[in-house]
Amino acid sequence: MKAIRRFTVRPVLPAPLGPLNELARNLRWSWHAGTRDLFRDVDPDLWADSGHDPVRLLGAVPSARLAALAADDTFLRRLGEAAADLRAYVTGERWYQERQHAPDAELPRAIAYFSPEFGVTAALPQYSGGLGILAGDHLKAASDLGVPLVGVGLLYRHGYFRQSLTRDGWQQEHYPVLDPNELPLTLLREADGTPTQVRLALPRGRALAAHVWQAQVGRVPLLLLDSDVEENDPGAREVTDRLYGGGSEHRLLQEMLLGIGGVRAVRTYCRLTGHAEPEVFHTNEGHAGFLGLERIHERVREGLDFDAALESVRGGTVFTTHTPVPAGIDRFDRELVAHHFGPDAELPDLDVEFVLRLGMETYPGGEPNLFNMAVMGLRLGRCANGVSTLHGKVSREMFQGLWPGFDPEEVPITSVTNGVHAPTWVAPEVFALGARQIGAERTDRALSVGGSDRWDAVADIQDGDIWLLRRELRAQLVYEVRRRLHLSWRQRGAATAELGWIDEVLDPDVLTVGFARRVPSYKRLTLMLRDRDRLMDLLTHPERPVQIVVAGKAHPADDGGKRLIQDLVRFTDDPRVRHRIVFLPDYGMAMAQKLYAGCDVWLNNPLRPLEACGTSGMKAALNGCLNLSVLDGWWDEWFEPDFGWAIPTADGAATDDHRRDDLEAAALYDLLERRVTARFYEHGPGGLPDRWIEMVRRTLTRLGPRVLAGRMVREYVERLYVPAARAHRVLAPDAATALAAWKSRVRAAWPGVAVDHVEASAAGATAELGTTLALRVRVQLGDLTPDDVEVQAVAGRVDPEDHITDAVPVPLKPTSGPERDGEAHGQPVRYVYEGPLGLDRTGPFGYTVRVLPAHRLLADGAELGLVAVPSEATGEDAGVLMR
Ligand SMILES: *Cc1c(COP(=O)(O)O)cnc(C)c1O
Repeated sequence: MKAIRRFTVRPVLPAPLGPLNELARNLRWSWHAGTRDLFRDVDPDLWADSGHDPVRLLGAVPSARLAALAADDTFLRRLGEAAADLRAYVTGERWYQERQHAPDAELPRAIAYFSPEFGVTAALPQYSGGLGILAGDHLKAASDLGVPLVGVGLLYRHGYFRQSLTRDGWQQEHYPVLDPNELPLTLLREADGTPTQVRLALPRGRALAAHVWQAQVGRVPLLLLDSDVEENDPGAREVTDRLYGGGSEHRLLQEMLLGIGGVRAVRTYCRLTGHAEPEVFHTNEGHAGFLGLERIHERVREGLDFDAALESVRGGTVFTTHTPVPAGIDRFDRELVAHHFGPDAELPDLDVEFVLRLGMETYPGGEPNLFNMAVMGLRLGRCANGVSTLHGKVSREMFQGLWPGFDPEEVPITSVTNGVHAPTWVAPEVFALGARQIGAERTDRALSVGGSDRWDAVADIQDGDIWLLRRELRAQLVYEVRRRLHLSWRQRGAATAELGWIDEVLDPDVLTVGFARRVPSYKRLTLMLRDRDRLMDLLTHPERPVQIVVAGKAHPADDGGKRLIQDLVRFTDDPRVRHRIVFLPDYGMAMAQKLYAGCDVWLNNPLRPLEACGTSGMKAALNGCLNLSVLDGWWDEWFEPDFGWAIPTADGAATDDHRRDDLEAAALYDLLERRVTARFYEHGPGGLPDRWIEMVRRTLTRLGPRVLAGRMVREYVERLYVPAARAHRVLAPDAATALAAWKSRVRAAWPGVAVDHVEASAAGATAELGTTLALRVRVQLGDLTPDDVEVQAVAGRVDPEDHITDAVPVPLKPTSGPERDGEAHGQPVRYVYEGPLGLDRTGPFGYTVRVLPAHRLLADGAELGLVAVPSEATGEDAGVLMR
């Protein structure tokens, strides 16, 4: 029978157990083992049944058990300690507060962090993959460091789908209904108790209302907007139905609710709670980019003009791009966007043309009719970054068109390499080993705040202890794999009687390789199947076998991805190998935690350079798992032979993808056959794989401290949030108005700027190291003056095409006032600039000169995308190249 109405009956806890509620509602339990142990001991069976979810657990415990606990002094003492620990955690001084005492700290009072998904815990399934989990890790690390962040996202009624398989290995999607009342969430209410509402105006007089739910992630509040409210028409109610579902219009509405509604939710939250207003808004990927428009709208309503409002808002905006894969970037038809903005829709005080101008791909190589959320992110963010060193470089090339006239190296997109939240991803057994060595408190700080000195302690752990730990984690994974495989086969329609073989699946003493991730084609789930015979030989090798655990979800609309899964599943179903290779459905955080810790080798074989960073390999490394990966994302940056193996890439060399896959797969098999298995099974005199253990130890001591989310968040604070907060403060209305007026004057006058003549004192075909050239440059500035520009010599090594590489700009100085001699004859005014140029390196060397806009409030010389360089003729004239 189907219920016609559903509601949640909340448990009433006996008064002494009251703090359990507090502990259940702060998601810190998800990375605090002591709190989880306490919940487990409330009722171990129900704890397992609840999927380790305290809110569900408390909803299910029988009153008799609660009464018994309320009279159990030992339990009450532990409860009191846990509650006191949480209170100390959320109120105490942490890294940020210590930094705040420094005289020149200039730290932002608060930062709003927007993301389309957040993976905090399996108990709040609001993520699809890496982007969301990174956002969850960002919040948790910010909480550990005391960074005053407010998270903003959407509450999806179905979250992301749950995956199962048909008998035939085809992916099936299920969308469980999530009832917010059964989740660790609290509805944000006005002072009078009514639920807070955020409203958006839609075209044709429709409206989109949303409630705001608050999750508490340690010290960090996370606000989630939910459009499933009664006031909404059916279409509007479904805006937050599921993550990454629906067509263009649905996506646009989700992103408008996230960006525009999100800012309104933050304002409401600050008004209701007295929380400091954010000075910095960080948009995690382009999807939340409309947050900038809403803030511009706020300023325009306060009386600022458009361009001034833009300058002011840009100051406090940080944009992080997360993917070089075009399908990962949302682009909308111009008309669709135009339709949703303006007098009869949202942001009525903003000119629609202005809105469009921010996102249109109006640059060489762009699609002039598309509105691109990443492009808007870059135009609205004064600070922008990619998520690994390599991805920073790839992004600068990818978006170079927005800064015409500048080399890719000069494109103002930096990078902060991702990290992972160690207290979430390090297995309790690994933590316990650390605690034995240096104590729980220091281990905790090593994992959350970082600091390599603390990690050095790993060096003293005995080989035997490391190996015992690795075996224990592997054995737990084997058990977990069998359990999940059994469930999967039951779902695939098998009877228990047919499933005896599952008890023999995987072996706790065999080298275990893991591969789990979403299944877009660039991640190449099935590369390992390229030569099935070779794979089969690896799996069934009599002395040195390999066993492989695979998991991953394909996007529901991606039949290509589902076919890859099916290919793999069919291979794993083969009775000759099914004890050595498995596919586990429904990859998610809960599975991931077991998987990363239990594997010996974490495999990643994306098409370089499409993996922006990748984080699963970092989580594996923190548990002493070695990486075997293509040199892409973070591995390109930090790979060392001590930490694992690099799969050679054939990017550039091979012409077609097939051949590239062949080459890279062959390299992968070679590595596994000759290097990886050899090292794992090679035992020293003491009977242990000494060299393997040494790699595990080095991975922990040297890689461990780098891959931490604590390190990442500290970098965001120091390199992006602080400059953004400073710009936000400086760009108060008057300064923003002045900057906007100056920019518009410079843009209008730029066609009149030119380099007329360049001469160098010691020009010639060769020059000696240590010589200094005296440069003399004549420029026209049109209606501008030397105060508006910088004239630079740019010098460096030249390549065979005369392109200057690793260029270093040197500012030149104006000699005197303008040369007015030509003025009477109607010729433009000229200025002469001079400066020395030292020849400080041997070999092919070259220089050029250029004029850039300059203003003390610009973030970067390339900001306006304006530059004047010598014409061909001027260059020849000046003998610009010397060899
Ligand atoms: C870490 C993680 C990811 C992201 O892993 P990548 O290496 O970036 O692909 C995806 N899903 C889950 C469940 C994770 O924990």
